Amino acid sequence: MSALDPIDETEAAALLRVAERFAVAVTPAMRALIDPTDPADPIARQFAPDVAELIEDPEELSDPIGDASHSPLPGIVHRYPDRVLLKPIKACPVYCRFCFRRETVGPGNKGLSAEQLEAAIAYIATRPEIFEVILTGGDPLALSARRLSDILARLFAIPHLGIIRIHTRVPVVQPERITAAMAKALRGDKPVYVVLHANHAREFTPQARAALARLADAGLPLLGQSVLLRGVNDSETALADLFRAMLTARVKPYHLNHLDKARGTGHFRVPLQEGQALVAKLRGRVSGLAQPTYILDIPGGHGKVPVGPVYAQPTEDGGWQVTDPWNCRHDYREG
Ligand SMILES: *Cc1c(COP(=O)(O)O)cnc(C)c1O
Ligand code: SF4
Repeated sequence: MSALDPIDETEAAALLRVAERFAVAVTPAMRALIDPTDPADPIARQFAPDVAELIEDPEELSDPIGDASHSPLPGIVHRYPDRVLLKPIKACPVYCRFCFRRETVGPGNKGLSAEQLEAAIAYIATRPEIFEVILTGGDPLALSARRLSDILARLFAIPHLGIIRIHTRVPVVQPERITAAMAKALRGDKPVYVVLHANHAREFTPQARAALARLADAGLPLLGQSVLLRGVNDSETALADLFRAMLTARVKPYHLNHLDKARGTGHFRVPLQEGQALVAKLRGRVSGLAQPTYILDIPGGHGKVPVGPVYAQPTEDGGWQVTDPWNCRHDYREG
């Protein structure tokens, strides 16, 4: 008999097909966090390929939030008048199994060439309505400190830019990259906000906390964004623990994203109604600082909107009915 029984062989072949379709990578820090005895480990679930990824729903999209339709030139997504995404790199140190850009990020995808970066920066420099540049990708902190500070210096030199934002998962998945030199490279003439992507309290290891402390001590405001994920953080306790872990690492929870409809991600989906109920349970139970806005990015590139519970409803007599955190209703009158 071979070492693999027939079922395992089928599964191994299926996993190979997953890996051919969507990039796979996990860092030593995340590998070390996985409990191999737990078949439902929330860290493994985020990074280990799963045969369920081969199941695609016709509703799912290769570009779920419509990046391409708002991209005037390579590396730029301009959907809102006052802010643009700048994507200098298309690789990440890990590949999240639910990634909304999973069909455009991966080790085989090249980042911007020097000429393309030049053109992208010229696009920003010639549009005074742009207040904010959001570096994303891929993971911008996978770039070297030298390349990052070069890009940032060119952005700092654009007078009409008010702030720069960096979307990253590096401080938790590869904390050793956040050296003092990296933290220093992010400091400059304009405020740089770092938005950390993290989905489970266990991601906040002592090493991740130290990396975040280096960024906070360098004077960078830290915000958190998370994705609501089946089997990772789809309970009141998991969410409360996650947002408290962020706060104790000096990260203010900013967005809780409803899962985008990327291909092969159905096994992570939590219905919107269930998401609203979870978010409602946190209100009144944990600190107001631990309440991110629950966000849906409307498929097709129509923008992000809050989709959390509604607490104030107009009544027929011109007043309001307001629901408190314990689900009791109260009349509210103005004037
Ligand atoms: C998500 C996103 C932003 C940022 O939205 P905020 O609500 O400001 O966090 C900006 N541009 C594009 C194209 C986006 O997808
Ligand atoms: S870090 Fe972000 S861009 Fe990279 S794989 Fe995860 S979700 Fe996608």
